[in-house]
Amino acid sequence: MTKHNFGAGPGILPKQALEKSAQAVLDLNGSGLSILEISHRSKDFDDILAKTKSLVKELLNVPDNYSILFLQGGASTQFAMVPMNLLPQGGKAAYVESGVWASKAAKEAKLFGEVELVASSKDRNFCYVPSGYSIPKDVAYLHLTSNNTIYGTQMSSFPESPVPVVCDMSSDIFSRPVDVSNFDLIYAGAQKNMGPAGVTLVIMKNDICGKAGRKIPTMLDYQTHIDNDSLFNTPPVFPIYVCMATLEWLKEIGGVPAIEKTNKEKAELLYSEIDSNPLFKGTADKESRSKMNVCFLLERPELEESFSSLLKANGIIGLKGHRSVGGFRASLYNALPVSSVEFLVSLMRDFAKSNG
Ligand SMILES: *Cc1c(COP(=O)(O)O)cnc(C)c1O
Repeated sequence: MTKHNFGAGPGILPKQALEKSAQAVLDLNGSGLSILEISHRSKDFDDILAKTKSLVKELLNVPDNYSILFLQGGASTQFAMVPMNLLPQGGKAAYVESGVWASKAAKEAKLFGEVELVASSKDRNFCYVPSGYSIPKDVAYLHLTSNNTIYGTQMSSFPESPVPVVCDMSSDIFSRPVDVSNFDLIYAGAQKNMGPAGVTLVIMKNDICGKAGRKIPTMLDYQTHIDNDSLFNTPPVFPIYVCMATLEWLKEIGGVPAIEKTNKEKAELLYSEIDSNPLFKGTADKESRSKMNVCFLLERPELEESFSSLLKANGIIGLKGHRSVGGFRASLYNALPVSSVEFLVSLMRDFAKSNG
């Protein structure tokens, strides 16, 4: 049976990238060695790292005065690394609390300085993206989360900021064009939209380090990784390879503008079914809806079990909502084909017919 993977992360990857990566595990470029057993200082890996970096740079139009780093520890380690490196001793940072990932980021920042929550959508279980807040000028940076994976909300635009902006783009990076020059630092765990777990992408302005005035452990100091081109220690060789293969695929299909179009099409298909089908309702406010994670409930919760069985019987994977929202969440990451969304929509229609 064909599987349709709507999982929120680790999420679906392009088949082409999986095949290429599987081959590299067996025999990298006819070398007779596996990608898993070569030195990270070898010419082969040099080429892989350079290629991955250049794809990130090209696909996101990263300006020349930015570094592109491949780190470990997930987005969750960035929650601490950002304030450790960028929040001066005794200084203040502004956070927008748009979900639990944002809350977790703010919690880590409090270990290093003062945190001003400039806006929060906690009052309605994060079902909308806060807007209309003012950004203080006396803070080291403003921290945003572009897409709130758990609640299915997404920033449709970014605020004009008088201070440097740091953004967690874990779950929508490479899904739509962003102007990197508006951010001082962008980070993303790979496993939502660009590759497997185990590598974290950081895109940062070169000159923002060294101002925090505290001692930073070597591995947690961005400068270490800038100076050593992500090769201070052994980087996550294989996850980087899979990211490379995924970004090659993205480039081949037309890059970020092309995938944005497809992502819009998928989201419109599903939201229009949710809005027109009497059995379902969306959980996020319409103007805050995410094109990556679509959260919805059944109007009659007693039908949840039978809808879940229908999904399972038809090879739909990963649609269960996060425990803090309940219901269902369909993640429409880049590699998910439109046909999978069409199939889900057809099942929702059938379900309405048999339960109308
Ligand atoms: C998944 C996710 C995280 C956590 O990522 P890890 O790599 O597991 O630490 C952080 N922020 C957002 C927006 C996420 O979607």
